[in-house]
Amino acid sequence: MTTNLFQFDRAGLLDWFAEHGEKPFRARQVMRWIHQRGHTDFDAMSDLAKPLRAWLQRDATLRALPVQTCQRSHDGTVKWLFDVGGGNAVESVFIPETARNTLCVSSQAGCAIGCAFCSTGAQGFSRNLDSGEIIAQLWQAEFAMRAELGLAPGERAISNVVMMGMGEPLQNYSALLPALRLMLDDDGYGLSRRRVTVSTSGMVRMMDRLAVDCPVALAVSLHAPNDALRDRLVPLNRKHPLDDLLAGCARYLRHAPRDFITFEYCMLDGVNDQPEHAAELVRLLRDRFACKFNLIPFNPFPGSTLRRSPAARVAAFAATLNEAGFVTTVRKTRGDDIDAACGQLAGDVRDRLSRRLQRNIPILPDTAQPGEMR
Ligand code: SAH
Ligand code: SF4
Repeated sequence: MTTNLFQFDRAGLLDWFAEHGEKPFRARQVMRWIHQRGHTDFDAMSDLAKPLRAWLQRDATLRALPVQTCQRSHDGTVKWLFDVGGGNAVESVFIPETARNTLCVSSQAGCAIGCAFCSTGAQGFSRNLDSGEIIAQLWQAEFAMRAELGLAPGERAISNVVMMGMGEPLQNYSALLPALRLMLDDDGYGLSRRRVTVSTSGMVRMMDRLAVDCPVALAVSLHAPNDALRDRLVPLNRKHPLDDLLAGCARYLRHAPRDFITFEYCMLDGVNDQPEHAAELVRLLRDRFACKFNLIPFNPFPGSTLRRSPAARVAAFAATLNEAGFVTTVRKTRGDDIDAACGQLAGDVRDRLSRRLQRNIPILPDTAQPGEMR
């Protein structure tokens, strides 16, 4: 059985090299060949000694993910559907913007959290991705886009990574951590800590670990200003209610002092988008810690009965937050013609939970009226 080198961060690769009596600087050379130059042919790694190349040819591999489909949006967004075996496929999305190019990466095939408004959650959960599968998404997208954009050698295609694809990244912590470390590593992708974002539905204990191990930018999916409503939208809230979650956010920032928490808030027509919800948010978060808001107009998906808030209501909600001193942005919908927008990533998931059947999680009614869900 060959070893997949995509799975290793620097420490992992150094260990694997040491087990075979190879020096650390050799491991760093190999990292650069793979993650900076995109090479997969060990024999072509010209500054490595012949016996080392022969050993790698025999014992190592770089396991790229078969591409099931690759779709391009009119706005330049590119979405890959990667086969991860066993009937499962996950999605990654490349989002070009003026000042940056972001890759949205998946962490799990499906998701066990089951938020009411999310297509991935509606698919159920199959399995965690391993570190190699998380990094393969970045590696494949990076080098495909370098070629497509005709970049000069060494010029990077992807400037930012957001763990906002399929899955709850902090529920797959042991695979996430080496992948994040490789993204930040100068011999890997060389991204600065603030250009890598982990988005979580609120796994508070794991936020504490991430703060110590690798304090990248943190986005927290809030979606509601009170526990009653959040319990229904994000089932994890029943385990970690808002008090617990917000205390966790404050602790996180102690490890990342000049940072802020980005609160994501999916705008659902008549559910969480009323003026009183905005006012309640202001009361909840005023004078707590540095935070910003990113409002995401709900992106519909097949089978969902929820509706997107009208643009004027989103603007009014944003204005209330801005006036209270919270920097608030409204996320632009990108790649909606190829179902690549937030919350639309469904991939292909062999559900092992049959979540809705087994746990009887309530699904929000489509007739929810303002105030009714509070
Ligand atoms: N599991 C993580 C990260 C993936 S989801 C999390 O929940 O944070 C990335 C963002 O998209 C989250 O804020 C999520 O709440 C939001 N989202 C999910 N479904 C959506 C939808 N249908 N429309 C708009 N945003 C959605
Ligand atoms: Fe999972 Fe995030 Fe979707 Fe919730 S919003 S079901 S946590 S992927």
